[in-house]
Amino acid sequence: MKYKISVILTILVLFLLVAGSTCNGPSAEDSTSDALRELTVLYTNDEHGWMVHDGDAGGAAEMMGQWRDVEGYSEEGAFLILSGGDMWTGPAISTWFQGESMTEIMNAMNYSAAAIGNHEFDFGQAVLLERTGQANFPFLSANMRDENTGELTAYALPYTLVEVNHIVVGLIGLTTMSADDINFPENVAGLDFIDYEIALEEIVHQVKSEGAELLIVISHLCKNDMEALAPTLAELGIALIGGGHCHEVVTETVNDVGILESGSYLRNYGKATLTFNDNTDSVVNMDLSVIPNDWTHSDPEISQIVTEWQTRLTDDLSNVIGYVENELLRHSDPMYNLITDAWLWEYPADIAMTNTGGIRQNLLAGDITLESWVGILPFENFIVQLELTGSQIMSLEGDLVVGGMTKIQGYHLSDGTPIYPDSVYSVLTTDYIYSTFQGFSDYDPEPYETSIHWRQPVIDYIQSLQTTAADPLENYLDYEPRQ
Ligand SMILES: [Zn+2]
Repeated sequence: MKYKISVILTILVLFLLVAGSTCNGPSAEDSTSDALRELTVLYTNDEHGWMVHDGDAGGAAEMMGQWRDVEGYSEEGAFLILSGGDMWTGPAISTWFQGESMTEIMNAMNYSAAAIGNHEFDFGQAVLLERTGQANFPFLSANMRDENTGELTAYALPYTLVEVNHIVVGLIGLTTMSADDINFPENVAGLDFIDYEIALEEIVHQVKSEGAELLIVISHLCKNDMEALAPTLAELGIALIGGGHCHEVVTETVNDVGILESGSYLRNYGKATLTFNDNTDSVVNMDLSVIPNDWTHSDPEISQIVTEWQTRLTDDLSNVIGYVENELLRHSDPMYNLITDAWLWEYPADIAMTNTGGIRQNLLAGDITLESWVGILPFENFIVQLELTGSQIMSLEGDLVVGGMTKIQGYHLSDGTPIYPDSVYSVLTTDYIYSTFQGFSDYDPEPYETSIHWRQPVIDYIQSLQTTAADPLENYLDYEPRQ
């Protein structure tokens, strides 16, 4: 028996030596099997601070758990975790802490890089700079420049190099050029967003000269923009582009360039499995998919961090943000006007519309706290922006209250200009009204999701007034009916 085993072992060893020498030895072909390396990209975009699973969205711990349990993710494995930007602004747990909580979560999830989106600017450039310092992964934007010097800015790198499974990956960032999509123009003051093609052509040879073998663009660009960019990407040897901003689910290949977008709010993640030929520095196979967060897994470390931020949020609910002398009734013109005006104060649009049914409590006399507003506007609604004509606005029905306009003595904007039937107006409403009230979704089938919680502008506006017993909220209320 012993003899037999050693013979088998010898044959096996000989076989392995022969097989091994074939694999390692020089070959006429470049594509020997050991030159092929796998890399899996796990991609999210427009996370918008949805670290907590609620309803059909969110769940950072759940997603990380799924990556570990289902995708086989490990820190040492051949994985890259990337984001297409708009990491925060969403539920209070992200917005109240100005993105700090989400940055900590993404640090713990081992993101390698994130593109700068439009919402990265929501709390101003100073806060973005703080987040850059806090994040242990770079924020990327190759097309963002200092307006005066034309130089790159302090809080974004144009690109970064990461080595995974012995592949040197060059990651390049792009930010949406649409300045209209940025809430506060002053937040991007001094910044210029240059053309995507120009930025890429400038950066790609630099990335290659620093040793990048595989090029991936992470961007805050919608599907249309990415498709239009595909010929340039192909020409520059970029294998894959991840997008964002339009919250679309995209898995397609255009001009042999993979295009991936994962939806939003950590509902899904994008996955690109690449087979890379190390000899030719080319991608020989790429599989793209978008996979739902199935919420059946949980990563204990991420879960722990989420819980800590939830506790901090609960503690902060009693923070005083202002003062009102008398009780402000939930069904009153000053309440309607306060809410809708606050939206327009925070977001540049012509008109704001909400429903009286969503306003659930009075604002009690005395100190105003965050908790007051959680009680008054308890629903997890988010603001959407629509383009509606004057006649569409005039035909809307339901218990709608308005800001930026009045229906008293005909339809007028608040500056007195008549609302013209054929003119187009930018209108804010909630995602709830949009999907349940008649007319809205027929008139504008492609609303822009601002991702701003409907409560947030009211809180921000009241804080900005710095009201006190000596200078109460009443001094800033508008008591005029508008409908
Ligand atoms: Zn965006």
